[in-house]
Amino acid sequence: MRAEKLDAADELRGKRDEFVLDDVIYLDGNSLGALPAVVPGRVEDVVRRQWGELRIRSWEESGWWTAPERIGDRIAPLIGAAPGQVVVGDSTSVNVFKALVGAVRLAGQGRDEIVVDATTFPTDGYIAESAARLTGCTLRPVAPADVPAALGDRTAAVLLNHVDYRTGRLHDLPALTAAVHRAGAYVVWDLCHSAGALPVGLDEHGVDLAVGCTYKFLNGGPGSPAYLYVRRELQDRFDSPLPGWNSHAEPFGMRTDYEPASGALRGRVGTPDILSMLALEAALEVWDGVSVAAVRAKSLALTDFFLECVAEYVPEGRVECVTPVAHEERGSQIALRCADAGEVMKRLIEQGVVGDFRAPDVLRFGFTPLYVGFADVERAARVLARTLA
Ligand SMILES: *Cc1c(COP(=O)(O)O)cnc(C)c1O
Repeated sequence: MRAEKLDAADELRGKRDEFVLDDVIYLDGNSLGALPAVVPGRVEDVVRRQWGELRIRSWEESGWWTAPERIGDRIAPLIGAAPGQVVVGDSTSVNVFKALVGAVRLAGQGRDEIVVDATTFPTDGYIAESAARLTGCTLRPVAPADVPAALGDRTAAVLLNHVDYRTGRLHDLPALTAAVHRAGAYVVWDLCHSAGALPVGLDEHGVDLAVGCTYKFLNGGPGSPAYLYVRRELQDRFDSPLPGWNSHAEPFGMRTDYEPASGALRGRVGTPDILSMLALEAALEVWDGVSVAAVRAKSLALTDFFLECVAEYVPEGRVECVTPVAHEERGSQIALRCADAGEVMKRLIEQGVVGDFRAPDVLRFGFTPLYVGFADVERAARVLARTLA
C-alpha cells in the first residue's frame, strides 16, 4: 500500500519506459546502468550508415571529431558545470592520472605531497601512488574526515571521492574543497558514484578538477568513456601528462612540437572511441527534461523506504547498515554488512533481485531514480528478509 502511494506520486515514474527492463529488480545501476531504449537504434545507425556508408567523411559530417567536447557539454549540467569545461574520453583511471598529475603541476615548486582518500576505490589509490612517484611527491592516504587536519603548505593535490563506493557515504564536497583551497592546494574529485544521482555543483563550489565514469548512474554502457572537468580559470595552466595529438592546438598540422589547445579539449589524448562514445551520447537523452534535484529527492525517498522496509522485515541484528542515515551523508546506495554477504547476494540474484557483493562482507544495493520504483524496493526488501531468515 505504502509503495503504491509513493509510486503514484513519483514524478519520474514515466522515465522507466525509456529503459529496457524486465521483471528483475535491478539494484545494480551503481555498477552498470540499465540500457536506455534509444541506444540500440542509434548504435545501429552509427555503425551501418556513419561508418558503413560515410566512412572517413563521418569524422566531420557525423560530428565524430568534436564528440568529446559536445558530449562533455551534455554531461556538464548534470554535474553543475557551465559549458566548455568537460571533455569525454578514456577511462576514469586514465583521467585520474591526467587530473592528479595536472593538479601537482598547477601547485608548482615547494609542494610535494599528494593526499588521497585512504578508503578510495582501489584504482584511484594505485594511480595516485604512481602519480606521486612520477612527480617526486610523497603519497599520504588519509580518511576523508581527517583530510582538513592533514593539509599544509606542502600539500600539492588532494584526490577525493564524492561518494564512497563501498559504504555509500556522501562526503562534504563544498567544505573539503574550501579546506584544500585554504591550504593553497588543488583538489580532484572522483564523481563515479554521484554524477547522475545527486547535485554536484562543481562550478558553484569552485572545484579545480573532477573525473567520473559514465556507465554507472549515467547509463552509458559497459566501458563507456569517462570524463574530465577542468575549471575554466585553470585551463590555460593545465599541463596534461598525456599530451596526445588530439589535444594539440593544430592536430592536423602534424607538427613535431607540441602546442596545447585551449579549453577543455586540452584534456583529450588520442582518437576517441567513437562507438561507445556515441552510444553514451544517445543514452544521455534520457536526461532531457530531468532535474537533478528531482532525482536526488527520489533517491533519498527510495533509500529511506528501503531502510524502513529492511527494519520492518529483516530480523533485528541480522544485517548492519554501513550507509549513513543522515541525508546529507548518503549517496544513492544502501550497503548492508553481514558475514555471509557473498552467499546471500548469490541467492538474491537467483530470485531476481540484483545488487552486488563487495568483499569481504558487504551487500550493495544501488537505487537509480530514473528506473527504480517504490514497489521494487518493497519487493527487494521482502526477498532479502526471506533469504536472510
Ligand atoms: C567505478 C569507479 C572507477 C572505475 O574506473 P575505470 O577506470 O572506469 O575502471 C574508478 N573510481 C571509482 C571511485 C569508481 O567508483
